[in-house]
Amino acid sequence: MNRIIKLFLPVFVYITMIDAANAQYAVGKPRDASLKIGVAKIDITPDTPIWLSGYASREKPSKGIVQPIRSRVLIIQENPSSRIVFITAEVLGLSTEIIDMVRKHAEQKYQLNRSQLFFNSSHTHTGPVIWPCLDVVYEFDAADQRRVSAYGQKLATRICDALDSAMADLSAGLLFAGHGQAGFAINRRGLINPNGPTDHDVPVLRVTDLGGNTKAILFGYACHNTTIVDDYHYISGDYSGFAQTELERNNPGAVALFITGCAGDQNPEPRGTLQLAVDHGKELAMAVQQVLKGTLKPVRAPIRTNYQEVELKFRDVDISRYQKDIVGDNIYLQRRAKLMLQAYNKGWGAGGYSYPIQAVRFGKDLTILGLSDEVVVDYSLNNKKKYAHENLFVAGYCNQVNCYIPNKRILNEGGYEADDSMIYYGQPGRFEDDVEDRIMKKIGEVMKQVGALAGR
Ligand SMILES: [Zn+2]
Repeated sequence: MNRIIKLFLPVFVYITMIDAANAQYAVGKPRDASLKIGVAKIDITPDTPIWLSGYASREKPSKGIVQPIRSRVLIIQENPSSRIVFITAEVLGLSTEIIDMVRKHAEQKYQLNRSQLFFNSSHTHTGPVIWPCLDVVYEFDAADQRRVSAYGQKLATRICDALDSAMADLSAGLLFAGHGQAGFAINRRGLINPNGPTDHDVPVLRVTDLGGNTKAILFGYACHNTTIVDDYHYISGDYSGFAQTELERNNPGAVALFITGCAGDQNPEPRGTLQLAVDHGKELAMAVQQVLKGTLKPVRAPIRTNYQEVELKFRDVDISRYQKDIVGDNIYLQRRAKLMLQAYNKGWGAGGYSYPIQAVRFGKDLTILGLSDEVVVDYSLNNKKKYAHENLFVAGYCNQVNCYIPNKRILNEGGYEADDSMIYYGQPGRFEDDVEDRIMKKIGEVMKQVGALAGR
């Protein structure tokens, strides 16, 4: 979710990106042929006009589609009890309800446990509303409500279909990792802190068959998919959608999966037009392609996964505040207060938040830490420093996306990511000051379970 920005947008022209030559890649010597790989890509574009999510200021549903949006699945299997399934979706944020539907399917049909399912949302701001996320922002008529509710059901079914296809695709393969850089992400809190941090790392996992053909490209970047702003009403995946399309075009037969990093306080720069989203997508795809051309490091089994939840606390939860807000002038405060008072009347107490933390470790070669919600960039930088001997990628927007996750710096500075965003997300208020300590402690436990130790 991004703050509301009104910009004049010129008439957009969709520029078709030019096919690059089909490159031959130099890779490290494969040493582990014990893995099986399955990939799938499925269209999740709504088939009717639908409200788009991400900017509270929008006043009408989508007018068309500039780029289809997709869910992509990558399964990496050592054996049927040791495997990881990456599931990406080009939406603002998957809801707990959708994740639960997919989890149930994966558990019943394939005996996959919670730690083996790694969900990630691209956080595109030109994708459909995922009900009931951000329900404080919208007041739909009956027809629009039916459409967004039906879309959520359809999305869950489509992701299950993609999982089935990827399972049917399993065959022997190899993994290789490397890192690149892309510079278009800025810290968007410049007015509060002109020297805010960024993370320009572009981690890349190349997945091949035994013949060396690229089957999948998993890559990440810590930046909001907000190049396109609020008065644009056409569906797209923003910069990461264009990056994936470019990579799939340049690597025929491969599925490119974008994983959002700790992008909570990171915006693309410049932003405001569709063409800029195309340009950033191209820059990111080129950074990935450069990595693919270099010598990559083999990534081997064993695959170890762990998933735990930590209880976070909200501060200043005061029912009298909501009783005041519900009769006030601000429509968003009113709607949030209504939710809070309904919950309170059902016996809700002080307001805690169960926060999922997940890690996947491939031998000593690569570790991916999955943090949920809109995590600010410090969680990436601090963990990479703490686990300096791990080849670590810290993803954000994993599992559910129900709020921002600030750290001490952001809570001290205040602003949208600490306070105002909690209203739009329908959360009780800002987090307690110990939110970072609680998360870092639980990360330590999860990392230990997968064999990753700090400061070695
Ligand atoms: Zn956001």
